[in-house]
Amino acid sequence: MSLPAELEQLAAPALLEWALGRYGNRFAISTSFQNEGMVMVDMAARINNQVRVFTIDTGRLPEETYALIDEVRARYGIAVEIVFPDHGEVERMTSRHGVNLFYQEVAFRKLCCHVRKVRPLERKLEGMDAWAVGLRREQSPERAQVKKVEELDGRVKLSPLADWTRQQVEEHLLRYQVPRHALEAKGYPSIGCAPCTRAVQPGESERAGRWWWEQDGSKECGLHITPTGEMRRQLDVLVEEILIDH
Ligand code: SF4
Repeated sequence: MSLPAELEQLAAPALLEWALGRYGNRFAISTSFQNEGMVMVDMAARINNQVRVFTIDTGRLPEETYALIDEVRARYGIAVEIVFPDHGEVERMTSRHGVNLFYQEVAFRKLCCHVRKVRPLERKLEGMDAWAVGLRREQSPERAQVKKVEELDGRVKLSPLADWTRQQVEEHLLRYQVPRHALEAKGYPSIGCAPCTRAVQPGESERAGRWWWEQDGSKECGLHITPTGEMRRQLDVLVEEILIDH
């Protein structure tokens, strides 16, 4: 697969239009319904209201996220596809390490994210050629190099908002009266699972409320940036135990 280099220069609506035209039903937006995801859903629905949208329901989402999923369904007429983790993997992980294993150590937290997010995403992507996510380079040092278009394992991953500022996101939401996540107004600029997200204090970074108890490790779940080195090795061992521990 060879993609034109010019795609990297396309503005977000043009890139989404290109993906919808090229991949049709084998393209989808992946979102956890934060502001960036909502901008993409709104933008894509204006181009083609048949756009597919999916979300990973980890089983630990805040109630406000479920409310927003229903709002998206009603507002845009989109049947949001819900992706669950494998129940056997979750059962084995929580029976072995506890339901709140993520507070114990970083490797357990990465395991939980891997089982509840990364593996379900991998399964979902098996039926697709391309997907779009709401990453912005401004969000964190780890995301500063995000490309708008990249090829991963034979699929195309799009980050149409990679070069957007927070202000641009805000302007789109206001201009089109896009529904917003209710936790945002309570001081949550970044929202994930309920036990792993808190409000941020003035002056803190956007992602400071994610896994706030961790002093080391990146503020990433593995969906976009894969662990490396010793953390990768630890994670591989823990995942293997879950997969074979029948
Ligand atoms: S964010 Fe927390 S609860 Fe959600 S998958 Fe990751 S560790 Fe598990």
